[in-house]
Amino acid sequence: MRYISTRGEAPALGFEDVLLTGLATDGGLYVPESLPHFSVEEIRSWRGLPYAELAYKVMYPFVEDAIPADDFRKMLGETYSVFSHQAVAPLVQLDTNEWVMELFRGPTLAFKDFALQLLGRLLDYVLEKRKQHVVIMGATSGDTGSAAIEGCRRCEHVDIFILHPYQRVSEVQRRQMTTVQGDNIHNIAVKGNFDDCQRMVKESFGNQSFLGGKTQLAAVNSINWARIMAQIVYYFQASLALGGPDRSMAFSVPTGNFGDIFAGYLAKKMGLPIAQLVIATNRNDILHRFMSGNKYEQHQLEHTLSPSMDIMVSSNFERLLFDLHGRDGAAVKDLLERAAKGPVSIEDYRWKHARKLFDSDAVDDKTTCDTIRDIYEKNEYLLDPHTAIGVRAARNCRRDSTVPMITLGTAHPAKFPDAIAESGLVVKPQLPAHMADLFEREERYTVLDNNVSEVQGFIAKHWKNA
Ligand SMILES: *Cc1c(COP(=O)(O)O)cnc(C)c1O
Repeated sequence: MRYISTRGEAPALGFEDVLLTGLATDGGLYVPESLPHFSVEEIRSWRGLPYAELAYKVMYPFVEDAIPADDFRKMLGETYSVFSHQAVAPLVQLDTNEWVMELFRGPTLAFKDFALQLLGRLLDYVLEKRKQHVVIMGATSGDTGSAAIEGCRRCEHVDIFILHPYQRVSEVQRRQMTTVQGDNIHNIAVKGNFDDCQRMVKESFGNQSFLGGKTQLAAVNSINWARIMAQIVYYFQASLALGGPDRSMAFSVPTGNFGDIFAGYLAKKMGLPIAQLVIATNRNDILHRFMSGNKYEQHQLEHTLSPSMDIMVSSNFERLLFDLHGRDGAAVKDLLERAAKGPVSIEDYRWKHARKLFDSDAVDDKTTCDTIRDIYEKNEYLLDPHTAIGVRAARNCRRDSTVPMITLGTAHPAKFPDAIAESGLVVKPQLPAHMADLFEREERYTVLDNNVSEVQGFIAKHWKNA
């Protein structure tokens, strides 16, 4: 399988290189040159498979040039055995034909574990083979940092440095990062905001000379193809559990960077019968505004009760734009260069095609809280604010009540106690047993000034073979 850039100029790469590369050299994102397609008979034959085995069936075509089948199977077995539920991605019923798929049974209680648990193992495997080392550098405002750290904690060939804004992430989120023990794990609290952290990461990727040529940076942000790939699997899993592929499913997906829902779009293209895909956003609704009015325009960032969806632009949307433009990289490049300067639209027939593929909705904080309360009162089931947005959007956008509607449950409610409190419920979400002592665990992090050379100096000094 070859991977090509959405901006049409960077060289095509194989899986190993795509894994180790963030952005393509032309600024684009890598996508498979072609997708595997599975027949209904084949998908039906996967009914009842354990999650890791299903993951093998769905993902192997993407990695087969790089990893022997047995090695990949073993890796998947290990990856998904760290989840705390036997079904890995269990379904919970909310109402007739309405479900939540709980994607928060991994080590950091958010769906990002599905991809990052695998990504850490993939990186270590490929680096071992190549006798290479990488430094992962990333900025986080919450969920990604902890999932990345958990994913890399046992990697031999990876050091990970995660920057978070000092005193500006929630205590649960901070502790999930800073209490993970390991010589290759480094948390840096920057005396600045999230944008400062992100700027330093970007600058460091642009000029890696501070590493002295002895190692290289790698990215684990949501544009990494391997993350998208791992997220395709659970769409198949949910469908098979509810009678697919012999009936269609609808999915509602709490969306920020468009990674998770893009995986659903790919599942459909790979042969899974999906009748409806709902893009659920919070007040940071660039995608909903585009879907409703064919205008792609950045607004100011709003801070909401669903912080993991607080974005101004959705980086993975570029991958959809590539398909909408008949995979014409030059057209995508032109469009996104214009979009960086002001609002843009696409040709009407292309936009209409996008509207056939997706429905969308934007949900504000008040409605998020109303939904948390409403579901708790009717079901005694506690939603986290991101999932609540998904459930609300699912109900608002539903087209056919005979089609099962599955909302992706992206985080455990205990990660976001403020939203639960704000919804007026007196119930307190409890951390699962394996994390109950989170507030007693020892923390390790270094506070640094908002200064890129100080941060780079720290990294240069502290990675394994420095
Ligand atoms: C990252 C995240 C999202 C958004 O996912 P995207 O793939 O960026 O669209 C939604 N909910 C939670 C809890 C997240 O951590």
